[in-house]
Amino acid sequence: MKHSGLLSVAGLVTLPFSGCSSTPPAEMLTPAIAMPEWLRNVEEEAFGHPMPGDEAKLKFVIGLAAENVRRGTGGPFGAAIFDLDSDQLIAVGVNSVVPAKQSWAHAEMTAFARAQHKLGTFSLKNCILATSCEPCAMCTGATPWSGVEVVLYGAPGSEARAIGFDEGDKLPLWKESLMKRGIRVSGPMLQEEARQPFLLYQNSRGKIY
Ligand SMILES: [Zn+2]
Repeated sequence: MKHSGLLSVAGLVTLPFSGCSSTPPAEMLTPAIAMPEWLRNVEEEAFGHPMPGDEAKLKFVIGLAAENVRRGTGGPFGAAIFDLDSDQLIAVGVNSVVPAKQSWAHAEMTAFARAQHKLGTFSLKNCILATSCEPCAMCTGATPWSGVEVVLYGAPGSEARAIGFDEGDKLPLWKESLMKRGIRVSGPMLQEEARQPFLLYQNSRGKIY
């Protein structure tokens, strides 16, 4: 299936090249965020392939975070949604806050939005969120509403804070509160690898917010 090339798409989106329609395109409540071409290629290549095990999924999203920095397409964060039963990749997301001028466009949020759009549902039940860094206050809050049943993360939030990112105030028992809702949380994992996107970002003098 050919994808629209939009990283995050509101339900009202009409495709940009709809041809001879004389009616103006629908106004979007939320703006679509352009998907970097490299990311689209990565997703197309990996789509539907099983990635069994927590580490394989985390290595994949840490790779997305690093590539997002190298390509200059956003902040040092990557995320993806996988099917819980088959371990197959459903959708990817990267931090797009600066290029999209959208404060919500964290990697986890764009991955949620893209997966929900691709699956045609607001619920990611039976799905796994893998993210290169511990989710911030916003993304932790959004997790139960996304419907995912597992959260895997690489770097602890302290890594993001160490280079100046604001992760927001979180409940000290945030993991327990997600687990109480039936969401398995695993992390930090692969910390050495998960630190690399931050170092790359620091070296590239990327914008901190
Ligand atoms: Zn976040």
